[in-house]
Amino acid sequence: MEYNIAVLSGDGIGPEICSGAIKVLNKVGEKYGHTFKFEQLPIGGYAIDTCGDPLPDFTVKKCLASDSVLLGAVGGYKWDNMPGDKRPEKGLLRIRKEMNLYSNIRPAKLWASLADASPLKPELVKNGIEIIIVRELTGGIYFGERGAGQENDAEYAWDTEKYSVPEIERIMRIACEIASKRSKKIVSVDKANVLESSRLWRRTVHRFAEENYPDIEVTDVLVDNMAMQIVKNPAQFDVVVTSNMFGDILSDEAAQVTGSIGMLASSSLGDTKCGLYEPIHGSAPDIAGKDIANPIATILAAAMMLRDSFDLTEEYNAIESAVAKVLDEGWRTADIYSEGCKKVKGSEMADLIVERI
Ligand code: NAD
Repeated sequence: MEYNIAVLSGDGIGPEICSGAIKVLNKVGEKYGHTFKFEQLPIGGYAIDTCGDPLPDFTVKKCLASDSVLLGAVGGYKWDNMPGDKRPEKGLLRIRKEMNLYSNIRPAKLWASLADASPLKPELVKNGIEIIIVRELTGGIYFGERGAGQENDAEYAWDTEKYSVPEIERIMRIACEIASKRSKKIVSVDKANVLESSRLWRRTVHRFAEENYPDIEVTDVLVDNMAMQIVKNPAQFDVVVTSNMFGDILSDEAAQVTGSIGMLASSSLGDTKCGLYEPIHGSAPDIAGKDIANPIATILAAAMMLRDSFDLTEEYNAIESAVAKVLDEGWRTADIYSEGCKKVKGSEMADLIVERI
């Protein structure tokens, strides 16, 4: 099969980490008989400098026409003082909107061989952890009605958490699809003891799963308890589905538990198979151009694209196993290095992974 991948390398370490992921995809293509065609398109600061717009129209058009999009990262000191609509981050928000991506999927994975990177006690993480947080991305309090005013000499402000059944159903469908390929267990996080919107959320996720995915078990956890459980016993979780704000907070907490930002990938999906795949970290301008950035997050994002957009699960597994092997053999980029390991540059790390596929 032939797949067209739009590559938005962006700024800072973006081009270095994307080139590592492209090498890996090319190796997978060679081994499994696929052709991956890559088209580099401008976004972020680079697009501001070259086209005067953080997301030129032709980038949007080509992303929408592609089979999927791989993104590096955007932003950097150079553009920090630009006006709002001319900031690199604007390009990122707009591409998510243009592609109608309403879910964000972040696997917070701690590899057993990197257990010492976690801030948690070794006995809690010795077997590794993997929590897949499926966050609703375009609804809830971040997009609800809001306002501010003055009442009895006091200034006030308000935001609204509002969810509709279709919004909850479509994010639940994505969570169920992921859970079907894994443990068939979903934890739904809400605050149903207090919030009306959470009570609708809870009713809807259960009804949707019973009607459409009867073999999936859905358990509810209140958000305050979830925040505790992630640090108390993270290994108990597999797929977690939650609203925009709860997902924002919990996915950062879960990422922190793994202790290594350079290893974590994410994807954003909507109704079609065309998704946006990226590392969770930013453009790391402090280390850009030195070939020390860890390319693994982006390589794993590319692997997620193979599995979730192209249904190439075996190819996904091949990349994941190659990463595990390289880590087990003791190879480390600077960000995950510890005494006794073998330090390599970012490009060397990508080559080691390619060799093991
Ligand atoms: P960052 O994630 O870029 O960097 C935080 C720290 O982690 C830095 O010390 C950096 O060197 C390190 N780091 C990040 N990725 C790494 C990797 N792959 N290998 C090794 N070390 C890595 O966050 P920041 O410093 O807050 O932001 C830098 C720029 O990135 C800002 O302009 C910000 O707006 C932007 N940003 C972009 C995205 C995105 O494109 N999705 C996300 C977050 C931040």
